[in-house]
Amino acid sequence: MRSPDIRSTFLDFFSARDHRVVPSGPLIPDDPTLLLTAAGMNQFKPYMLGERVPEHRRATSVQKCARTSDIDNVGRTTRHTTFFEMLGNFSFGDYFKQEAIGWAWELLTGHFGLDPDRLWVTVYSDDDEAERMWRRLGVPGERVQRLGMADNYWSMGVPGPCGPSSELHYDRGPSFGREGGPAVDGERYQEIWNLVFMQNLRGEGPSKEGYPIVGELPARNIDTGLGLDRLAAILQDVDTLCETDLVAPTFRLAQELAGRAYPGRDGSEESVSFRVVTDHARSVAFLIADGVLPGKDGRGYVLRRLMRRAIRHARTLGIDEPALPALTASVIDNLGPAWPELERRRELVRQVVAAEEEAFDRTLRQGSRLLDGAIERARRSGSGLSGRTAFELHDTYGFPIDLTVDAARSAGLTVDEDAFGELLERQQRQAKEAERDRKGGAVARQDAYRRIVARHGLTDFVGYDRTRADV
Ligand code: ATP
Ligand code: MG
Ligand code: MG
Ligand code: MG
Repeated sequence: MRSPDIRSTFLDFFSARDHRVVPSGPLIPDDPTLLLTAAGMNQFKPYMLGERVPEHRRATSVQKCARTSDIDNVGRTTRHTTFFEMLGNFSFGDYFKQEAIGWAWELLTGHFGLDPDRLWVTVYSDDDEAERMWRRLGVPGERVQRLGMADNYWSMGVPGPCGPSSELHYDRGPSFGREGGPAVDGERYQEIWNLVFMQNLRGEGPSKEGYPIVGELPARNIDTGLGLDRLAAILQDVDTLCETDLVAPTFRLAQELAGRAYPGRDGSEESVSFRVVTDHARSVAFLIADGVLPGKDGRGYVLRRLMRRAIRHARTLGIDEPALPALTASVIDNLGPAWPELERRRELVRQVVAAEEEAFDRTLRQGSRLLDGAIERARRSGSGLSGRTAFELHDTYGFPIDLTVDAARSAGLTVDEDAFGELLERQQRQAKEAERDRKGGAVARQDAYRRIVARHGLTDFVGYDRTRADV
């Protein structure tokens, strides 16, 4: 089954069950607690918090997601990309666990034809109810596993809605990893669908596992997320997300440009590079199309990091001419029909990536020489890469830290990231002080304007229609 059919099968299934089909939200969320949209429920958060009343209490969507927190996994696992599409069904105070579980099972085994014997489920550690429901559908006890908060308790933003979840996993077979279910190996038993029973409110806490639950939501909600890319990989019987019809043309183009074939899922650095280049080209195209431009911090820096990593990996594959313009164009050719904003922003994407590649190329060669030399020396002396080297690469050559970490990792080395962090912080502090000295007055004035705009909103100029005397 090809991806357009997967999308429509999903949406048709839920709209036949009275769900309203809602378009994807943008990758730049309308939510100050979030950098980028990373899940289908982002746009529905106010409904779950009870801040807004939905027109319809059931919704279904295909959401564009950017998860750069997964950036280090790309190419190293078979199942993570920085951009993916999430299929979801949602209930705002309407149906709950029973329906969410029953429909997920019916859709996967009945309509997508997944072999029920290869499906495993996980439930939150104390969720007896969810386990009973799965067992009633015929899932044998040994394929239901219980996991703790880190895996089976979902939350979004702080403060934000949260709740226990139950996840469906597909056994990709022994060539992917160890036996024993999702609790043992997430590569072999790939999570495909997360069903979240949103009922609580999350408070401030030190980590994903260590936050307090500070209250209940006004109603019980359902939030689910099924990874289109992962389901496509299973249905199309390919090993990695880069080989699905979603990005296969870009993946092939990378091989053409490099003049060599992808070596397969062999764990080699070359295989990682092919997958990184393909993945990053897609996320870069989508981010620019949604209005992100390269910059020094925030979203702009996320985009810049993705572009620079893609360029460096392209060069290590032997692609010496500009790579991103052609790769992102192939993403647009392939996904433009499903995502028209790509087509509309085709020229902008081309210009942004071309400019970034040209600018980065100038320093990349020198920086790479420094990096390769430092790696060689570190290897000989049996140490890691120093924070100072990483800082120099960042500061003088524009190498994002994760690019340096990536290169070191390929050589089996670590980077002193703490020392790097300290140097960076010191530099940023000094820059801020200098800036303050330089234009202290102007900054203060700007802040005052910002405060005024925040309090009163932007005003319309009415001087052409009315004079002071009229007011
Ligand atoms: P994993 O444990 O495999 O990292 P997750 O628990 O972080 O996945 P969720 O936050 O539950 O994922 O997201 C819902 C679904 O979105 C997942 O079940 C999966 O199918 C898909 N998904 C999540 N992260 C990625 C990713 N980086 N690339 C592709 N698909 C993803
Ligand atoms: Mg994850
Ligand atoms: Mg998970
Ligand atoms: Mg999950």
